[in-house]
Amino acid sequence: MKYALVTGGSRGIGRAVCVKLHEMGYHVLINYLSNETAAKETLALIGGEGTLMPFDVGNADAVQASLQDWAGKHPGEYIEVLVNNAGIRRDNLLIWMERNEWDSVLDTSLGAFFNVTKAVLQPMLLHKFGRIVNVASLSGIKGLPGQTNYSAAKGGLIAATKALAQEVAKKRVTVNAVAPGFIRTDMVEGLNEEELRKDIPAGRFGTAEEVASVVGFLSSADASYITGEVISVNGGLYT
Ligand code: NAP
Repeated sequence: MKYALVTGGSRGIGRAVCVKLHEMGYHVLINYLSNETAAKETLALIGGEGTLMPFDVGNADAVQASLQDWAGKHPGEYIEVLVNNAGIRRDNLLIWMERNEWDSVLDTSLGAFFNVTKAVLQPMLLHKFGRIVNVASLSGIKGLPGQTNYSAAKGGLIAATKALAQEVAKKRVTVNAVAPGFIRTDMVEGLNEEELRKDIPAGRFGTAEEVASVVGFLSSADASYITGEVISVNGGLYT
């Protein structure tokens, strides 16, 4: 059995990534925070060939407990693909931003990268094969007003991707990022798509599946010589 862990796999981009990795032959560990109904829908979409794994990616103790428990029950096996996808938005102008809006966004993207990657990296190195894909954002490349927290988190995630890639390349572990633009999921609910799409050369928001197919490629053997890279999936909305 080959295992892949997708954080935030219950909805949106993470769900589409679970489906893609299942098609690629992985048993998918579907992480989520609290929406068990949605996580079970993802599990049904992959024919039940996965495992629900709820934990808060921002909580180091919870991450460690859950992944240690899994490792204890799967001696000799390891997670060979990790997709750090879970994320939240708490948009506000910095002048009005509350401390918890800053901390929660940083914890869920950047802190989570540390918590979850640390927990699965060593077995990848020992087995001399692994794929880590981080879901960043256009906001982390360009910076967007109203998102100093989110831009900082995603920009940090991109820099961490590049640094870790160089640490582990010799062990055949690749570390890459995708940077979606506007993708139609719960996260962009409330945004004015009619207005925003005027600025997108492709003239529309993207789909979760369009992001998942890039994540799938970066997770595949075909991408073995690509590492430390950031691939934008944004319909031409370049910075
Ligand atoms: P979404 O539809 O809002 O789904 C978010 C997912 O993350 C859910 O599965 C949620 O679990 C999970 N999650 C949130 N906080 C968590 C935590 N503390 N621990 C574990 N899981 C947690 O979001 P999305 O649009 O698919 O976004 C996925 C990723 O793409 C995020 O990193 C986001 O920043 C990035 N992104 C999205 C867009 C876009 O336009 N949609 C653009 C650029 C980047 P529950 O279901 O349990 O709540």
